[in-house]
Amino acid sequence: MSKANVPVKKIPTGQRIVFETNDCFHGQIKSEEQSIDSLDWERVNPATGPVYINEAKPGDALKIAIEKIELMNKGVMAAIPQVGIFGDEVTNSSIKIIEIDGNVAHFNENIKLPINPMIGVIGVAPAEGEIACGTPGSHGGNMDCTQITEGNTLYLPIFHQGALLSLGDVHACMGDGEIMGTGIEIPAKVTIKVDVIGGMSINEPLLETQDMFYAVVSADTLENAIKNAAKTIRDLLIKKYSMDKNTAGMLLSAAGDTRICQVVDPLVTVRFGISKNILDRI
Ligand code: CA
Ligand code: ZN
Repeated sequence: MSKANVPVKKIPTGQRIVFETNDCFHGQIKSEEQSIDSLDWERVNPATGPVYINEAKPGDALKIAIEKIELMNKGVMAAIPQVGIFGDEVTNSSIKIIEIDGNVAHFNENIKLPINPMIGVIGVAPAEGEIACGTPGSHGGNMDCTQITEGNTLYLPIFHQGALLSLGDVHACMGDGEIMGTGIEIPAKVTIKVDVIGGMSINEPLLETQDMFYAVVSADTLENAIKNAAKTIRDLLIKKYSMDKNTAGMLLSAAGDTRICQVVDPLVTVRFGISKNILDRI
C-alpha cells in the first residue's frame, strides 16, 4: 500500500462498492500435491484496489461499513516452513484444500467448522512510503482481525488525498492468533459502504461491532500492541468524553476487553475495547 499506487476507481463518499478479491496465494494453489516452493512469493497477499474516495483528505476518517462477504466454494490452508509460531518445526510443507458448503467448512470427514468470514487485509495508503499488504499498521493492512466481518464498521485514518482504500485476504475461518499464518484462505466478493467522516481525526484503526468499540493496533510485541490499543481508547475517553486520565484508566481496567487478533504478520495485532453500553452512560 502506497500513495504512489494508481487508483483503479474513483467514488464519492456514501458509495456502496463491491470488491472482488483473490485468496492470499493469488490463486496459485490448485492442488494438495503441489509444492509450496512452486509459488511466486511476490504475488502472495494481494489486495484489490486502491479505490480513491473523492472527498477523503488527511485528518478525516474513512468509515467502512462491511455489509456482505460472499465466499467462493473452496478455500486453502498451508503449513509453510518458517511461517507462524510452529514455522521452525515445519520441515515439509503441507497444503490443504477445504470445501465450503453453505455455512460449513469441511476441514476433514469428521470436522466441520462453522464459517466466520472476515477480511484479513484492509487499509489505506500509509503516512509514509510503501507498506507490503502482508504487514499491518496504523493504516490498517494485514490486521487479520476476526471482527472485521459482516455487520461491523471499521474506521481508518486518512493520510493522503483520496485515502486509497484496498482490501483482500478474506478467510472463511480463522482462529484468533492465526497461529500457523493462514486461515482458510478464499476468494470472495466483499460489499462495503464507504463514508468520509470530516474532522474525525484518529491515529489507529477503530472497529465498531454491535456491542463494542475497539482500537485495532499493531506493534512489534503483544505487550506494546496492548498498551497502544488501550491508550488509544483511554485517550478517546479523555478527549471525547472529558474523563480524567486516572478515571479513564480505572474504567478500562474494570471493564476493558483485550483480545488477540494475530501473532504472525510479522507485527502482531490486538484489539482493545469497551462496550458501547458503558460509553452511552459516561
Ligand atoms: Ca492475513
Ligand atoms: Zn489470509
